Amino acid sequence: MSDKKKSPGQEFQYTPKSVWDRVTDAEKKEILALGEDYKAFLSAAKTERLATAEIIKRAHGKGFNELIAGGGPKKFYVNYRKKSAALVHLGTEDPIRGINLIVSHIDSPRLDLKQRPLYEDVEIAHLKTHYYGGLKKYQWVARPLALYGIVVTGDGKEVQIALGDGPDDPVFLVSDLLIHLAGKAQMDKKISEALPAEKLNIICGSIPVGDTEAKERVKLAILQHLHDTYGIIEEDFISAEIEAVPAGPARDVGFDRSLVGSYGQDDRASAYSALSAVLSVQEPTKTCAVFFLDKEEIGSDGVTGARGRIIEEVAADLLTASGKEASQTNVWEMLAHSRCISADVNGALDPDWQEVHEKNNAALLGYGPCITKFTGSRGKYMASDASAELVGWVRRLFNRAGVVWQYGELGKVDEGGGGTIAKDIAERGIDVIDIGPVLLNMHSPFEISSKADIYMSCKAFRVFLEST
Ligand code: MN
Ligand code: MN
Repeated sequence: MSDKKKSPGQEFQYTPKSVWDRVTDAEKKEILALGEDYKAFLSAAKTERLATAEIIKRAHGKGFNELIAGGGPKKFYVNYRKKSAALVHLGTEDPIRGINLIVSHIDSPRLDLKQRPLYEDVEIAHLKTHYYGGLKKYQWVARPLALYGIVVTGDGKEVQIALGDGPDDPVFLVSDLLIHLAGKAQMDKKISEALPAEKLNIICGSIPVGDTEAKERVKLAILQHLHDTYGIIEEDFISAEIEAVPAGPARDVGFDRSLVGSYGQDDRASAYSALSAVLSVQEPTKTCAVFFLDKEEIGSDGVTGARGRIIEEVAADLLTASGKEASQTNVWEMLAHSRCISADVNGALDPDWQEVHEKNNAALLGYGPCITKFTGSRGKYMASDASAELVGWVRRLFNRAGVVWQYGELGKVDEGGGGTIAKDIAERGIDVIDIGPVLLNMHSPFEISSKADIYMSCKAFRVFLEST
């Protein structure tokens, strides 16, 4: 018999544990089942507009309705200019004593079409792009892309574009230079210089119009096609928002199917978890308000971002719905008494690039949602540093409820860094902490999450929303 007695001091050690080691076989089945729904969400919600529609569709199915002027309903949704959303579930307690907020974002890095995108070169029609958010440009070439968005025509019609994910749809792509000729042009350069942004041009056609005397014959043929199919003309692109995103659905990864590979998991992994949480809450004491915001990847500026006024507007709405006066004083007082989870993903310890992480403070895939006390870079610059009191409260909450969670910060000190919406929430006088699943391959066209982390994040967010 081996001696299992612990050494002195061992019982005081902190040892994070894998979710897979902490759940029952029945829960493992639940984790894999939830993964199916998670993939369906990711595949349906590839842009902020599609995510907004999907979130509201799911909320509607669970009894959420539009706000009614003059009070109620108890569960309502706000579609904020079609690119952000909020779900509110009114509690039994006076909201001015504080509410439970979760903020996530539903925009992801991608290639946006420019406002004058279409041109022809060497008898191939192209669409010029302006990339959105932080991306490694080389990951976006030589891979199938889908186009999604909206075109507003000269007479004000809104035309939806969705092409590249249907079984018979064509796809689009940015071509890359053949290796045989790439030596001086690319391979000898720094990665950041090997692919200039103005070479991220999307191939979209090659058949010319029949008139051999005409100029730009392929471009003309594409314009004809666009007019026949969508009723749009070239000038309409100026009032369009078309995003090129990776084509194809979310997929299982690995022999054991434990991981999910998909575009857009930053931050739709957190958005999905927050959505599942708020949809499962029954009769909350404190009012729950969950936000799905736009523009995080470019700094949260803009009317649909966290630095806009959506939070104050929804705060006023929920006061009205609760029969309270939606005065500015009441809004500020309610927010000041509230707690907020800034639900955003963090980077997982990368097995192939461990040298950029500091292992004691790095998060692991499969170890549950990651609590991050602060983000920022170069000495916590631009960070909202959650207080020890708030971190302590969250630890107690999760430990009591059996949530498997972990702690992690993004990389070694001075290695790089990044921010979240947390600081925009803190600016409003709300206590806020970053918590979310971790990803490998973050900001790439095929990010990797663990189904165990998604499951535990749903649980963590629900426990938070139900907290008093
Ligand atoms: Mn994010
Ligand atoms: Mn991001």
